[in-house]
Amino acid sequence: MPAPTERPDTVLIHADREDAHGGALAPSIHPSVTYAARDAGEFAEMATRPRHPRFYTRYGNPTHERAARLIARLEGGDGALMTASGMGAISAVLLGLLAAGDRAVAQTSHYMGTTQLFTELLPRFGVRVDLVDQADTAALVAALRRGAKLVMLETPSNPTMTLTDLRAVADAARAAGAISVADNTFACPLNQQPLALGIDVVVHSATKYLGGHHDLIAGAIVARDELLDRIWHSTIALGATLGAFDAWLLLRGMRTLSLRVARANQNAMAVARFLEGRPEVEAVHYPGLESHPQHALARAQMRGFGGVLAMRLRGDYARTARFVSRLRLFTQAVSLGGVESLVVHAAAMVAGTLDEPQMQAAGIVPNLVRLACGVEATEDLLADLEQAMR
Ligand SMILES: *Cc1c(COP(=O)(O)O)cnc(C)c1O
Repeated sequence: MPAPTERPDTVLIHADREDAHGGALAPSIHPSVTYAARDAGEFAEMATRPRHPRFYTRYGNPTHERAARLIARLEGGDGALMTASGMGAISAVLLGLLAAGDRAVAQTSHYMGTTQLFTELLPRFGVRVDLVDQADTAALVAALRRGAKLVMLETPSNPTMTLTDLRAVADAARAAGAISVADNTFACPLNQQPLALGIDVVVHSATKYLGGHHDLIAGAIVARDELLDRIWHSTIALGATLGAFDAWLLLRGMRTLSLRVARANQNAMAVARFLEGRPEVEAVHYPGLESHPQHALARAQMRGFGGVLAMRLRGDYARTARFVSRLRLFTQAVSLGGVESLVVHAAAMVAGTLDEPQMQAAGIVPNLVRLACGVEATEDLLADLEQAMR
């Protein structure tokens, strides 16, 4: 029985109880790759119905389905597809919906893998790509009017915490006949629901907040059924299939999503305010701060401002590297959204991947630090930052 509520705190605990066998409260894992049909008629149905959860695991799997139903419910979509990673989800959406000769619009600032897809891979297959500053809504709308088939959005975006006006771009995309896709990894569905603002497809790196413990890699695609069926055809060909055990770990991680996200939001807000008051800090980028240039948009489209923030330390690359190295609780590691707080020196992270103009376009300067707050005690995180500054 699904929980008779839409409050995410309760949905996360009770919504996927349907297949609890023999009263088991914990979900069961279905490692089986293949599923028996009772007769020829059932086999024909299994082989032809898109997204059948009991045919062959690359096509669908009961443990995937359970995680997918929960994520779809949180995002407000008809359903979801699970993939082996966030990039698996983004690749499947783009390769499933775009063809040679199509025009696609994307932001100048995206997750690095997404930028690579738009600047390297898609052009090789004849897709023309327009990269636009996400904060410039008029430029995004103008690019859509030039005959775009799809627009890819990501808000807040990494690492400068810049926002995209989801409703304005979703409306423009619909008017232009283009499909809008939003990467909702940074906000997560508890802080922001792009589908409710008119976006067609939401993608996630479930590796981050949804999993929440830095112990699994997974991705999800949420949309209405008609689009999911189309995208599913490319996911089964691309083969980024999530393992059943990782799907189960994801279900376990999601049970505490609302607790973790509430604390991460709270920690990030406290850290942002603390840093704003420090003389060692040149600027703080966090949508929850009144000083964020898009704070009004953040209030309009987000319910919480997320656990990630960025700051520019006063000083050069070397001084920034020293500060990051002196942090003890904030661990120097990529990724975000888990229980541990992590820190990344942005310029060091992208040095091997982006060239100088790409770094500038992405807003990455030598003194930029990204902080991903976990769920530790707020006072301890502030004390860690303070001792590293001294
Ligand atoms: C991590 C991340 C991805 C890629 O996800 P993987 O699970 O590592 O493949 C995509 N988008 C954003 C915003 C991310 O943070």
